[in-house]
Amino acid sequence: MIPENYDPPAKLMSGRTILITGATDGIGKALSLKLSNYSCNLILLGRSTLKLEAIKKECADHVANVEVFKLDFMHAKGEDYQCLIDMIESKYASIDCLVHNAAILGELSPVDHYDIGLWQQVIHVNLTSTFILTKCLLPLLKIGKFPSITFTSSGVGIKGKAFWGAYSVSKFGIEGFAQILSEELKNSNIKVSTINPGATNTNMRAKAYPAEDKSLIKNPEDVLSAYLYLLSPEFSEPNGSRFSL
Ligand code: NDP
Repeated sequence: MIPENYDPPAKLMSGRTILITGATDGIGKALSLKLSNYSCNLILLGRSTLKLEAIKKECADHVANVEVFKLDFMHAKGEDYQCLIDMIESKYASIDCLVHNAAILGELSPVDHYDIGLWQQVIHVNLTSTFILTKCLLPLLKIGKFPSITFTSSGVGIKGKAFWGAYSVSKFGIEGFAQILSEELKNSNIKVSTINPGATNTNMRAKAYPAEDKSLIKNPEDVLSAYLYLLSPEFSEPNGSRFSL
């Protein structure tokens, strides 16, 4: 179980090297800003140079060492991933935490109307690129300290829901991938977990539920303590644990 309102002692987070995808908006941005208060090394990934520069600026007054890196999962090629690996190897030698957070919703549509190209894009960004990034970074995680891989899932990754199409299928895939990886890594020091943040007030949520009263759902800041626990060396739940907030 995740301790309520977990707030890791600063010294435990000090020096931890943490990579977050989708760090330029929503939950990923809120998490990045929160972590910038700890003296850790943050590697923030996003697809927009402007938004990456903006978050780097927002973090500038804080204590973390922040590196931003542009990687658009829709279009990234092998050499783009290699650049990321080279950067991490040269600056940090290893990483301790990998947070898979970036995702797109696609469209909410019945299967018979779902655009085939969009379906492929959603699966590619949400699932295939998660596999590629994990594969690329596993060697650097294996030499990290108290290393962890956090996958972001969704309620529709456990129970299919009409019209959620490729997004739901991608999250089922994430759940399966996390199970496979946690079994493969059961004798290693890497902790694999899956977190479903639940209804949270972000652009993605607004796209899915445009008429919703936002005052009735959580803000990104409300889910962060759970993420902090999964990223801290104190995270002690069994490998392959799933959490729903
Ligand atoms: P947002 O749409 O607010 O943020 C998504 C982030 O992913 C943004 O930083 C976005 O970049 C980035 N991203 C999107 N496409 C790409 C791409 N091609 N390459 C690189 N980065 C990309 O979503 P949330 O914060 O709501 O979602 C965060 C995670 O939580 C997701 O995995 C989502 O599925 C999950 N989730 C969210 C829920 C909610 O209610 N909000 C509920 C359940 C799960 P940019 O800033 O450029 O747009």
